[in-house]
Amino acid sequence: MFPLPADLACPAATPDSALSVEIVSAGDFGTTWEMVEGGGQTGPLSLPLLVGIIHHPDGTILIDSGLGKTTRAGTWPRFPFNAFDVSVPEGAAIVERVPNPLKVLLTHNHYDHIGGLFDLPGVEVWTGIDDLRGGRFPADLRKLVTFVGKDLRDGVVGRVLGVPAIDVQGDGTVWYLGTPGHTRGAASVLVRARERQYLFVGDTAWVDHHLVDKRRPGLISLIIDDDHKALDASLDWARWMYANCPDLAVVAGHEPTRRP
Ligand SMILES: [Zn+2]
Repeated sequence: MFPLPADLACPAATPDSALSVEIVSAGDFGTTWEMVEGGGQTGPLSLPLLVGIIHHPDGTILIDSGLGKTTRAGTWPRFPFNAFDVSVPEGAAIVERVPNPLKVLLTHNHYDHIGGLFDLPGVEVWTGIDDLRGGRFPADLRKLVTFVGKDLRDGVVGRVLGVPAIDVQGDGTVWYLGTPGHTRGAASVLVRARERQYLFVGDTAWVDHHLVDKRRPGLISLIIDDDHKALDASLDWARWMYANCPDLAVVAGHEPTRRP
């Protein structure tokens, strides 16, 4: 357990907000519960690749991009990830719902969150600056879209919900939050919408069980989580939000019950 930030509080309601939010699934990932959580449920499982769609007066902002037409064509993901059971049903690619987003806010740089970017040439894509390093964005994708690395460290930017935060549109409605661990540049997104507040935590938690008491199995975590100490702190923070803020929708990256 790490000390939680002293200034932790739930976001206040914003009934006058002009924003609305949709959660959709841009693809499916076939796996088993045993691969997802240690000491929990067992059996086969289909996980959605959740994408947040923010309807903002400035334009439509996406949170992650799921997989896209390149997966349907069999060219993404690439080795060694092409061994996974992934699919994108007709109409589910994010470009088929939102052809011209204003920008994309990535929660992290894993293949199942960035594949849909191949369908959005020229789009502005925000990423934690540490996720721009390490080669997980392939060279052809770097040429196709405009990556903007954001330094989400304490002291560099302000704070919201007790963590480093950037005001995405400058109007206080959408916040890009530094929540490293799953990857070194991992981010979360707070959306202050009309109907309620949303906190997209990416793969800090894959499923809601991770927001309560379960974790990824140890070996899986060893392979895919970059910074375990930072992840512990970010997960504790997400769990606090989930437990204490009933009016806040905390959206785990692949929670099956969020599939529309
Ligand atoms: Zn993921």
